[in-house]
Amino acid sequence: MSILPYGRQTIEDDDIAAVAEALRADFLTTGPMVETFETAFAAKVGAAHAVACSNGTAALHLAMMALKVGPGDVCIAPSITFLATANCARYVGADVVFADVDPTTGLMTPDTLKDAISRVTSGRLRAVLPVHLRGDAVELPALAQIAAEAGAVLVEDAPHALGTTARFGGVSETIGDCRHSAMATFSFHPVKTIATGEGGMVTTNDPDLAERLRSLRSHGMVRPAGCDPWWYEMPEPGYNYRLPDILCALGLSQLGKLDRFAARRRALAARYLERLAPLAPLVRPAATPGWSDPVLHLMVALIDFAALGKSRREVVEALKARGVGTQVHYIPVHRQPYYLERYGPLALPGAEAWYSSCLSLPLYPGMTDTDVDKVVDALEAVLLR
Ligand SMILES: *Cc1c(COP(=O)(O)O)cnc(C)c1O
Repeated sequence: MSILPYGRQTIEDDDIAAVAEALRADFLTTGPMVETFETAFAAKVGAAHAVACSNGTAALHLAMMALKVGPGDVCIAPSITFLATANCARYVGADVVFADVDPTTGLMTPDTLKDAISRVTSGRLRAVLPVHLRGDAVELPALAQIAAEAGAVLVEDAPHALGTTARFGGVSETIGDCRHSAMATFSFHPVKTIATGEGGMVTTNDPDLAERLRSLRSHGMVRPAGCDPWWYEMPEPGYNYRLPDILCALGLSQLGKLDRFAARRRALAARYLERLAPLAPLVRPAATPGWSDPVLHLMVALIDFAALGKSRREVVEALKARGVGTQVHYIPVHRQPYYLERYGPLALPGAEAWYSSCLSLPLYPGMTDTDVDKVVDALEAVLLR
């Protein structure tokens, strides 16, 4: 029996043709496809600049380096996220203060950000890294204002939210347009909304940050204006975080399908909401804030396992036996052994409540409506019998 995974890529013949063409071209890396992909991506999300890099984790690391975050500095990350959101601060020697999340949306809120800021007891707060968990937008203007009052900027960790729009004060914005943030980061891992295998992007409206991102992704090399043709200088060491032309060609081809992928994700999510409604209150879909019009990356159900008298493990295994793959997004990062040892135990009740009830159901553009029915039927059978 085939298993529906919780997420997967959609690769079509023209994507494959785009890669084959890139393989026959003069440049496999550092060629013209990089800028072509970057320009198209920036236009799609409404940012002035986009800088491609090797993955979403590299994007976060580059963002920290571009801001010159370092030892003695502090970054705030939500505890419900992938490890990389917090780890990027540690890569540059900064410390992490974990913010709690709203237990119904999984998102950092103005209140949980204020609470995290109150726990910054030493060091200088430089960056707040909100995550648009599942694809729903955080309350960007409020978070940006609170961060600014504390002397910090927002760096949106946005891999879940490619295609998401939000309305604040009657103005419609696209995630990645960096209207309220210094930078936004994306990932093209196969489960994300568009896929290049491994791949990432940083968007920004600040030309100086864009220039720093570009040099830092390639060893920190710069070429002063009018220099000799062979010349380069390294004011500070960077990395090799480049995205090859082969993958930029795939990314460009995938980006052309974003609207179609987004429409399909929205339709599947709508069907889930309709089919899950009768299972309330034992099963509730994660809540969408009023300002958010998400292209969901994850379909998270919040399940009251205690009231059902079943453990999550039992449910996960029984669903798998019925051909339904699931995943948990995420284990609170503050509980990871490394962070526990470094910062000690933390009481983040929203994150704990989210973690104890969340389960991500299959969601990807290649699913059919019947697949959604199959998932919800399986969930009903497993939970209610
Ligand atoms: C996927 C993801 C990352 C990391 O992206 P990679 O491309 O896998 O390195 C970082 N943060 C979040 C929220 C993600 O979902």
